[in-house]
Amino acid sequence: MAVNIQYLKGVGPKRASRLRKLNINTVEDLMYFIPRDYDDRSKFKTLRECMIGEKVSLEVEIIGKANILRPRRNLSIIKVPVKDSSHNAYLVWFNQEYLKDKFIVGEKIIVNGKINKVGMEIQIMSPVFEKSGTMDKVGRITPIYSLTEGLTNNEIIKIIDYSIKEYIDQIREFLPQEIINKYDLMDIRGAITNVHFPMNSVLLEKARKRLSFQELLTLQMGLFIIKNRNFTNNKGIRFNKTIEINDFIQKLPFKLTNYSQIKVFKEIEADMENDIQMNRLVQGDVGSGKTIIAVLAMFKAISSGYQAVMMAPTEILASQHFESIRKFFSGYNIRTELLVGSLSPKAKEEILLDLKEGRIDILIGTHAVIQENVEFNRLGLAITDEQHRFGVKQRAILSQKGNNPDVIVMTATPIPRTLALILYGDLDVSIIDELPPGRKEIETYAVGPEMIERINNFIRKQILESRQAYIVCPLIEESETLTVNAAEELYKDFKDNIFKEFKVGLLHGKMKPKEKDLVMEEFKNHKIDILVSTTVIEVGVNVPNSNIMVIYNAERFGLAQLHQLRGRVGRGEHQSYCILINESNNQISRERMRVLQNSTDGFKISEKDLELRGPGEFFGTRQHGLPELKVANLFTDMDILKVAQKEAINIVNQDPNLELEKYRELKKKIQEMFSNLREYSTFN
Ligand code: ADP
Ligand code: MG
Repeated sequence: MAVNIQYLKGVGPKRASRLRKLNINTVEDLMYFIPRDYDDRSKFKTLRECMIGEKVSLEVEIIGKANILRPRRNLSIIKVPVKDSSHNAYLVWFNQEYLKDKFIVGEKIIVNGKINKVGMEIQIMSPVFEKSGTMDKVGRITPIYSLTEGLTNNEIIKIIDYSIKEYIDQIREFLPQEIINKYDLMDIRGAITNVHFPMNSVLLEKARKRLSFQELLTLQMGLFIIKNRNFTNNKGIRFNKTIEINDFIQKLPFKLTNYSQIKVFKEIEADMENDIQMNRLVQGDVGSGKTIIAVLAMFKAISSGYQAVMMAPTEILASQHFESIRKFFSGYNIRTELLVGSLSPKAKEEILLDLKEGRIDILIGTHAVIQENVEFNRLGLAITDEQHRFGVKQRAILSQKGNNPDVIVMTATPIPRTLALILYGDLDVSIIDELPPGRKEIETYAVGPEMIERINNFIRKQILESRQAYIVCPLIEESETLTVNAAEELYKDFKDNIFKEFKVGLLHGKMKPKEKDLVMEEFKNHKIDILVSTTVIEVGVNVPNSNIMVIYNAERFGLAQLHQLRGRVGRGEHQSYCILINESNNQISRERMRVLQNSTDGFKISEKDLELRGPGEFFGTRQHGLPELKVANLFTDMDILKVAQKEAINIVNQDPNLELEKYRELKKKIQEMFSNLREYSTFN
């Protein structure tokens, strides 16, 4: 179906180049160019049933000649008297005199237009019309497409209509018949035809359902296959029951939260004690205490004579974990080491050797731990912290360092469960949904840019009381350089003018990892009062003394991300503040800011964001490397997603590499869907 659109009747080079702007290159692309909306002209009413202002379809009879009025120069009004069984009315057009000869008294036509009332007179404004019985423009649901300059909706309709008439027979069904039957799906040709030109709303719904199903099924199956777990339940390690762990828990400096930390650890314990490989996602809001969960699991692994590894996205975060984990294990005969890029070659070499020969129990580190030269003696547990910062591949490499070790991934990005099914489709999910007791609520304010001076005064006051502040500048989508420039500018202004009496630091993504860590270290040790940064500080570093988070252009961030940023403060004994500077007057922006102002529950916040902005934020190809969805809407098509996912599991269970003949076409579709994504180049 790779027919180039340029050779399609009625297209030609000019239109072809415009279509290309809409990402349409082939006839198949055209067929999958799904309308963004529909104008439902299929519901007929009688005049008596109509409401003023309503847009309706009607069947009317012409009962008189067209009158033409010319109330002003440059304005002519044409009025055609009509009636239906219930009432009389006029069809009304402005400046379209040429219509006057189109109507024959006594003829019946169907029209679609907006109802207006002037005095006692009912008018149907600028209606589209056609002969009764034709149902070309009026009596049906009309697609509305996303447009580009130089292409009208009607032109796209014509092109798509033609391509369907001419080429639909070449579209091949790729879903196995048994699946079509099982879920009562429309066939592919019917679905494409009806998603563009539905005969009625029931067929439209069926068409959309079919296309959404196929899209979610291919996506989910591709992910399952890539993630290569195939739900075949890999044989894993059976760890011992560990009674000593209760003693360990007793001695912790705090009491675990019952309903969350204890519950989640029990789930992990059960996984570890059976002989199926654990693949578990631990999801918990910032500050909910995920680290201790990892510590307990490590303790258990070591008690059975295995090694454990934990990978974190930055050096500073890794060292932070290293320090706190060492503290938890002090008094036990457990050796923990830190492996990061900045170690001296000699120190590194020693660690690698001891690790390989089994003299190290726990290795904490950055990407350094998945380098080729890192070998374990008996790796039993692989943990990834802040999973959203790593790709699927890196997680896989880590677990391949052992012989089917149990795997835990931890993330603070609160993804609604339904989406986690896709993003982490191969994982069991544990959720920590309460914070340790005694946390102070962070006071959050959404303000306009006119408040900046007052905010600066507030920051000054807090710093004079020895607190510290984070200032976040937005990521500029188009260019990292612009982002960095903006941060640098604000930094200079702070350093040289506004806050020249204080120590101001700068942190951004273009700095070398070592420079970044240095700045973070200085901030942590209070050698910096105000840290101006891009979103690179998002990930879990603890600076309890900082109590202010100011976010510029907050409207540009996802709510989940804002929430994550806010989580950088509120970690110490001082009252903390988060100030969102919203530079947009847009209604939705304001509503989104209000969500954050009123809630501190990460899951609620991300559900709300999903509702307000759609799933793009979670599924930006940039962030997760997932293919773009054309039909399915992950918010409204949740039910379809669930079914598609169940079926994907079924199929992959039955035929992990899709070798059966009945899946041949489906396999091709999956390959096609993933073919352009670098991240998934391993897929075949
Ligand atoms: P995150 O889930 O963001 O990784 P951490 O594991 O870093 O959170 O925990 C945040 C802080 O809360 C740490 O200082 C940790 O020691 C502390 N903490 C964890 N669990 C509890 C608890 N049950 N009671 C009190 N403090 C806790
Ligand atoms: Mg953490």
